[in-house]
Amino acid sequence: MNDSMRRAAAILLVILGAVARWWAESGAPASASAHDAMVATIAAARERAAGNDARLKPASRFEEGGWIYVHLEGDPGAMGYQHGYLLAPEIEDAFAAVSAGMMRSTNRDWEFFRKAAHEMLGPKIDAEYQQELQGIVEGLRARTGSKLDVDDIVAFNAFEELPDYYVPWLDKQQKTAKAPNLKSPGNCSAFVATGSWTKDGLIVMAHNNWTSYRNGERWRIVFDIAPKNGYRILMDGFPGVIASDDDFGINSDGLMVTETTITQFEGWDPNGKAEFVRARKALQYAGTIDEYTKIMLDGNNGGYANDWLLGDRKTGEIAQFELGLKAHKLWRTKDGVLSGSNWARDPKVLKEDTPQFDPANKESSPNARRARWDELLKENKGKIDVALAEKMLGDHADTAQHKKEANERTLCGHVDASPRGVKEWDWQPYYPGGAVQGKVTDATMAKEMRMMARMGHPCGGDFLAKPFLAAHPEYAWQEPYLRDMKAGPWTEFRSGPAPKE
Ligand SMILES: [Zn+2]
Repeated sequence: MNDSMRRAAAILLVILGAVARWWAESGAPASASAHDAMVATIAAARERAAGNDARLKPASRFEEGGWIYVHLEGDPGAMGYQHGYLLAPEIEDAFAAVSAGMMRSTNRDWEFFRKAAHEMLGPKIDAEYQQELQGIVEGLRARTGSKLDVDDIVAFNAFEELPDYYVPWLDKQQKTAKAPNLKSPGNCSAFVATGSWTKDGLIVMAHNNWTSYRNGERWRIVFDIAPKNGYRILMDGFPGVIASDDDFGINSDGLMVTETTITQFEGWDPNGKAEFVRARKALQYAGTIDEYTKIMLDGNNGGYANDWLLGDRKTGEIAQFELGLKAHKLWRTKDGVLSGSNWARDPKVLKEDTPQFDPANKESSPNARRARWDELLKENKGKIDVALAEKMLGDHADTAQHKKEANERTLCGHVDASPRGVKEWDWQPYYPGGAVQGKVTDATMAKEMRMMARMGHPCGGDFLAKPFLAAHPEYAWQEPYLRDMKAGPWTEFRSGPAPKE
């Protein structure tokens, strides 16, 4: 037992003693209100004791522009504790929303996901991330008395890869009767540009996150991570999850990282290492494009397969790393632009990893946005900077209909406005999903560990849950979790002083 734990235990004992005396003096637990008061007293004591834990000392939290910024620092266990403690209410809330979606889409119970986490993913997680995940559980429990354990948190961290990659693979293996139509998700519109394409000749990187609004309105954390080992990280993220997961991040050695997901990807390797672990590790330990690809390939499980868009501000080089399971390919340049909107382009990846995807269908969301990126980036060659990139993320041009209309085909996605939905992702008509937030940075900002972020639709439009649910009762099951998603302002975030360099 360390000093802080001893102190916490002593405080708790004093409080419990007081509660016991009060309990005895107030006679039998006659009323529900007496019982409630006691529970509240114990909870307050627990929270006070947990708040005095020495592990919290270097950590901090503040809110701005609809985002929650947390600074985590120290060894893996301490950073996990800080994460679990500082974001405890948000983790409990996000866990409820995410786990409900995972169970509903897959027809599996939560025990199934816990087992997958415990038996398949858990043993292959690097020791430092096991400690961090365990720390999250401890911090969460200390703050709220949560019943969640490490299997819950591991399954939750894998919320992008277990339901839409592992389960369809498993259903196929087991020939599951009436298997649900699960599709790998199509998250995001993004680009990275360099050389003659940008205003200052240096790298500009931009990304908006596409997901269900139910999950996306909770994707509002800015993590400033100062780990004991590896590089300092500034990234957006999800409460309780150790990777950025949507993904957008920079590290203090000059690497800039984002991605868009590969539509209609199929495949899973149960012996591989979880994607969320590889993605976090790569952002923490890679200083070059080569190091990044090496870490992502090590134990590739096929989960959450992405086209990674990378930049190295030290060299001005950018890259696209298309990471399938059976095939993968890397393109790189010091003068060019690479965009993503959920399509694969390497013939081998298309053939072997995305057999259902039709790159020729101009009406699909990924291809219509691909055409729009080509058009928009070409129009602005030599002018691209942070301010312009912010505007681009809110673009509403539909290249299939040749008009401006916010829908499932626009860079700023509004699928809730589309009678078509996105069939490639099994998003039904008017599915409450689309672009949920945006981020932009450039080489100069990245050097100073800064980025811009806007919560909600990058165009500034609001999503309002109540009128939506009234108009679309088919999504009534989301009512307990679906909230208004109002757009915040573009807000600058920076990591604290003294990044390791
Ligand atoms: Zn929009």
